[in-house]
Amino acid sequence: MSKQRLHRNVVIIGSGPAGLTAAIYSARANLKPLLIDAPVDAEKQTAPGGQLMITTEVENYPGFAEGIQGPEMMAEFRRQAERFGTEFIEAWIEKVELRERPFILHTREYVIQTETLIIASGASAKWLGIPGEAKVPDGLGGNGVSACATCDGPLPAFRNKPLVVVGGGDTAMEEATFLTRYASRVFVVHRRDKLRASKIMQDKAFRNPKLEFIWDTAIEEILGTPEDGVTGIRLRNLKTAAKRIFACSGVFIAIGHKPNTDLFKGQIETDQVGYIKTSGRSTATNIPGVFASGDVQDSIYRQAVTAAGTGCMAALDAERFLDHLPVMMPSGEEVTREGEHITADQEAIITPDGHMIPNKTEYAAPGE
Ligand SMILES: Cc1cc2nc3c(=O)[nH]c(=O)nc-3n(C[C@H](O)[C@H](O)[C@H](O)COP(=O)(O)OP(=O)(O)OC[C@H]3O[C@@H](n4cnc5c(N)ncnc54)[C@H](O)[C@@H]3O)c2cc1C
Repeated sequence: MSKQRLHRNVVIIGSGPAGLTAAIYSARANLKPLLIDAPVDAEKQTAPGGQLMITTEVENYPGFAEGIQGPEMMAEFRRQAERFGTEFIEAWIEKVELRERPFILHTREYVIQTETLIIASGASAKWLGIPGEAKVPDGLGGNGVSACATCDGPLPAFRNKPLVVVGGGDTAMEEATFLTRYASRVFVVHRRDKLRASKIMQDKAFRNPKLEFIWDTAIEEILGTPEDGVTGIRLRNLKTAAKRIFACSGVFIAIGHKPNTDLFKGQIETDQVGYIKTSGRSTATNIPGVFASGDVQDSIYRQAVTAAGTGCMAALDAERFLDHLPVMMPSGEEVTREGEHITADQEAIITPDGHMIPNKTEYAAPGE
């Protein structure tokens, strides 16, 4: 079967808060964006709408004083993007060609050319893969099991209760320390007898009187019921093989995140973990015309509101680029659609054929 061919000015990958905000802005700017997002996939825990589709209450997104369910919030984002004419395709992007413009994206049924690309493919929390961890109704995910303490820690279900954090790196220490504000006590379960976290994070954790460590131990199962949520975990000591049940009311998995960037490997600049590098002062990547927003380029904040904020930035950057205006690159230089480079010190313009000209306009006073 031959594939259908499309050509667009703006294509967005991902319909989480970043992708949908980019869609709202670029649709309102009349750029007729096409948004492509992966279909529901239970194994990969993806659904159109992104990570918030697998959570319940969102209490920290401004504008919802009483909180809102994650899927409901993403339905609102989508309705707003649709209202201004965003076009949607539900498909996995399987291959991208970013060496020259127009960029080319391949799905099973389409070959899509685009003048600008906004990557908002998010990141995925790593899970242990143990019984009880899957999302409700298959497990207790969203009902006492979480991968985000900032998001879920303050929820009433976790207040003044014993909680467990799994992991031994900086993220785990940060999550555990944060949770001590709400929990009666926080227990860090770690497979080894020492932490991977940086010294400063370890010192802070060891000094915290509400934090306790359970060393050389793995969680085998998360226990509970749909009515009561999490009631405990089954632990196994990796040195003695002894097993025991440990009572707790919540489990926070903090063994890391993986940015969804395998698709772009070898074509776009990332950090060591795989997060896409952006300029810092714009969402430009090292490829002129390709922008990145949301968790895919943010290893630090990873929140819906920051994802939406950078989604807005990416749409405005793409609009600038299409309007032939310079966009700031990660290197500090600015680049236009025509391939002109303005040096980072703003002193010179390098033309597409390699000539350097001073970046100065000399004004002659009237009458001179
Ligand atoms: C359980 C949980 C609870 C959370 N609770 C909160 C909260 O209360 N408040 C808060 O602010 N934040 C919360 N977060 C964090 C928040 O969800 C993320 O920061 C936010 O969703 C990031 O948005 P994004 O648009 O960058 O990416 P995502 O939401 O991750 O969306 C990316 C989308 O891109 C799609 N995609 C990836 N690769 C491809 C491909 N090759 N082809 C097509 N599509 C692709 C994915 O399927 C996904 O739908 C929570 C996260 C989790 C996991």
